[in-house]
Amino acid sequence: MSAKQLETKAIALRNVIYRYPKSIAPVLHIDSWEVEHGELVFIHGLSGSGKSTLLNLLTGILVANSGDVQVLEQSIADLRSVKRDEFRAKNIGVVFQQFNLFPYLSVIENIKLAVYFSGIGHDVFQERCQELFSCLNLDLALMESRADMLSVGQQQRVAIARALINRPKLLIVDEPTSALDNEAKHGFMTMLVRLAKESQTTLIFVSHDETLMPFFSQQVSMSDLNSTREKDVN
Ligand code: ADP
Ligand code: MG
Repeated sequence: MSAKQLETKAIALRNVIYRYPKSIAPVLHIDSWEVEHGELVFIHGLSGSGKSTLLNLLTGILVANSGDVQVLEQSIADLRSVKRDEFRAKNIGVVFQQFNLFPYLSVIENIKLAVYFSGIGHDVFQERCQELFSCLNLDLALMESRADMLSVGQQQRVAIARALINRPKLLIVDEPTSALDNEAKHGFMTMLVRLAKESQTTLIFVSHDETLMPFFSQQVSMSDLNSTREKDVN
């Protein structure tokens, strides 16, 4: 596959191997994986199957030991550490399992941290906040509240607002529904998928909860994607 052909993909992985510094065997070995722009992808797999590791490779938080990880036509290994942070901040929205809000900062301060690299002005920031809060059904009066004063459901929606404030081309979400009951889960998924579709954002969503599959245009099983168990364990 030539570099030219890889150009049009949101994600393209080739012969990727990742091993944690202190572990003996690789935890991830992906021969080939591609995602088209605008696709809504559900990645499922058991706990420990490498889902979070894969997401960290996509965001450049981790760098593969070998092989090529291309995200939005950018080879992650070609970026030095500061450039990787900048690339992530500008192009990728990430919602972590624990939301990673700063508890002592207000909602608005938490969201503002995400625009440090993108340099959007005050007015655009305010406009987008209002739009996102309205889409996410969040009360604007919460803006000044400390993040740790919010309910889990509210924190989750603030984490999504923060992930989307820069209008990223790629949105990565790691097991966000674990803390939600069934009704809240359905509402959350409907909203997330609608936002991704409206903004033509490629969505990579990871969960062990297979009941969420119908919300997505494509499903990927870690056991199909990750060949470490067959090839690297002897
Ligand atoms: P998942 O998100 O599917 O539960 P992870 O990607 O977190 O799986 O973990 C995949 C494997 O890598 C597991 O065996 C886990 O124990 C191991 N692992 C995860 N993080 C580290 C780390 N920082 N150092 C060493 N091993 C790790
Ligand atoms: Mg995980």
